[in-house]
Amino acid sequence: MNLDQSNLQKLVDDAHARHSKTSGGANASYIPYLAQVPSHLAGVAIVTVDGKVAFAGDADYPFAIESISKVCTLAAAIDQVGSASLRHKIGADPTGLPFNSVIALELHKGKPLSPLVNAGAMATVSLLQAKDTEARWQAIVDIQSALVGSPVKLSDDVNRSEQDTNFHNRGIAWLLYAANAMYCDPMEACDVYTRQCSTLVTATQLATMAATLAGRGHNPVTGKQVVKAEHVRHILAEMTMEGLYEHSGDWAYNVGLPGKSGVGGGLLAVVPGVMGIAAFSPPLDVAGNSVRGQLMVADIARAVGANIYDKQ
Ligand code: GLU
Repeated sequence: MNLDQSNLQKLVDDAHARHSKTSGGANASYIPYLAQVPSHLAGVAIVTVDGKVAFAGDADYPFAIESISKVCTLAAAIDQVGSASLRHKIGADPTGLPFNSVIALELHKGKPLSPLVNAGAMATVSLLQAKDTEARWQAIVDIQSALVGSPVKLSDDVNRSEQDTNFHNRGIAWLLYAANAMYCDPMEACDVYTRQCSTLVTATQLATMAATLAGRGHNPVTGKQVVKAEHVRHILAEMTMEGLYEHSGDWAYNVGLPGKSGVGGGLLAVVPGVMGIAAFSPPLDVAGNSVRGQLMVADIARAVGANIYDKQ
């Protein structure tokens, strides 16, 4: 398909027009901040690997990155420790259970299986080489900003809301520690993980991040190589396994693209070699994926024939 600027604009406009008012789902409520984000918001954006940008709706509304941050930290950690060590210490399989499942951890003797569930994400934070908490946090701000192509900031409101309520994650961090699967102080990992979920991003920034992964680690907006090219395939494999929580298999079956969603309502998908697509809308399905986001991204993927399992 011809991806010139006017076609890209038509893709986002059509997807937005078709799905931005679709009903169904509900805002995440277990984090108080997320419960009060206006549910009607809906935006969608595309960034191509050669730097073309198109967006529609609330694509520039800043929202909490949440679980999508796990992909950023994975990118930083895999570059530091290498793909073999990352796989050995964290894993590369779906858990088939909710993202904050303690049962999944117990079933696998403390091995998280995926860097994209809470247990694996906190263990991944702990793998980063950092001399103290603030250096660990700075490494995460740096990789998030590099991937989305512009400076990312912590939202004090989101962070406070999460830090005051993250008892379940603190429990998971101690279970990892007990299983020798935590590589820094467990409460430091939980604190920094909670902060990494509390930065604000827009759908356009997430589409830039997805385009960076589509371009083997080269950010088309800043022109910088952000992740080593040879690690991107492993990041995309992790996204395929667990990116849309326990609906990751359905997403692969129906859409056929590596993706990642967050309980803030964000969703991104990577069309390798071509472009990144991202959407934002707060109401979530039972697994934690944006209802409208999935529809908008799937629409665009279908229209451009992006399913990677269709390639002959
Ligand atoms: N901060 C959230 C948590 O740890 C992120 C969850 C998500 O987006 O999946 O529960």
